[in-house]
Formats: sequence, structure tokens, C-alpha cells
Amino acid sequence: MTEILLIVGLHPHESAAALVAERALEALQARGLPADILRVPPEWTVLGCLDDLPGADVNRCVVPGTKEFDTDLDARVGDKIVAQAYPGRLAFEFHNYAFDHGSGRLAVEPGTAPSAFRIGDVAPGTTGRFEIGFWRNRPAGGIPGKYLMELPAVFAPVGRARRDRRAANLQRLADEGYLAADEHWRRVLNAHMIEEVDVEATRAAGFLDDAVVEKVVRWVSSIAAVDLLERKT
Ligand SMILES: [Zn+2]
Repeated sequence: MTEILLIVGLHPHESAAALVAERALEALQARGLPADILRVPPEWTVLGCLDDLPGADVNRCVVPGTKEFDTDLDARVGDKIVAQAYPGRLAFEFHNYAFDHGSGRLAVEPGTAPSAFRIGDVAPGTTGRFEIGFWRNRPAGGIPGKYLMELPAVFAPVGRARRDRRAANLQRLADEGYLAADEHWRRVLNAHMIEEVDVEATRAAGFLDDAVVEKVVRWVSSIAAVDLLERKT
């Protein structure tokens, strides 16, 4: 059986996604599926550096050998951690999107019950609108990598003091030559710096309901079953 790896914490401000993943892990294990979780420490992330977390080191958040932020700790850093520490695992990385200002492909219409949420592929080139979205990374080399999931959450602005400290730290790092790779990643980083998941509001909205966890568990199980078939043939 393919071993399943859930990954949380790459974006520490998306904390509701980690709560769903922890419950999904328990449910997968209770069903006898070999599943494990990688909890990325916040001090490994760009936000951890901007928040002055003990042990944070900006050089862990850059493309190796450069001063280019890997804002997502994603294809280039995150995939390396997985490949080295968990070779061969079928990996699912958990994220949150703001349910009311998602990409347009990802959104929750008011009044939609969590039991009616649909999970769909939102990779470039696909169509459709879903409450829970996924796509599959293709790191350098074109080999299919981990799956990414986007779960709805309610976000709130971070406090002024933290926001100001993040901005000052980002400016200091920029003065030292550290930069996001391009305009897109600068925008992503700026968005990450000013908002964070409000867990209680997310719970009140129903986005942490058992129905959501159950949908995630069923979806992960089905992908794992297909993966097992593919690896056998
Ligand atoms: Zn994210």
C-alpha cells in the first residue's frame, strides 16, 4: 500500500487547514491506511522569519545558493524535504483560501452546506468552480509530485504591530538583497503578511465540520487507491 503523507504548516497563517489535516490523519489511520503527517515548523517559513521566531533563518527560505525567497517553500524547498525525509510517499499539502475572495475558481456561495461541498481539480487548464480545490505539482523533471489542497476559511487582518514588524523585517531583508522571485510572488507574500485564518470564525462558518473532514478523507483514500493501481502496473 502506498504510504500517504499529509503536509501542514508551509503557510503558517493558514491554520485551519492544519486542523482538518490532523483529523483526516486520525480518520485515515483508523481505517487502517498507512498515513503520516509532516508538520513544517513555522520558523522554517518566510513568515516565521518576518515574525522573528526563535530559530528562524532566512537562508532556509530561499532557493539554495540564491537570495530569492521561496515564498511557498513549495516546489523547490518543500518537495526536497519530502523527497529526502519521506521518499516515495504520496503527499498531500494542505492550504486555506479566503472563502469570500478566492481565485474565482475557489469560493463558497453563502448558504452552501458543508455536506454539499465539491472537491475539484483547479489546475491551470481545467474549468469549474469548487468549494475545495486541488491540483498536482509537477516539479522540475516533469514527474508528478505532491497534491495541493485548498480548503475554505475565514480570514482576518493581523494586528497592526505584527504587520508593521513584518513590513520592517521585509524591508531590512530586501536591503540585504533578499527578494521574492517575481511580481507574482511579491503579491502572494504581501497578502500572506496582512491576513491570517480566524479559526473560531472558520469553525462557526462550518468549514471545520465533520462533513468537510470526511470529504477530504474519502478523496485522499480514492487518490491513494488509484496511485496503488498505477504503481502496480
Ligand atoms: Zn497556502
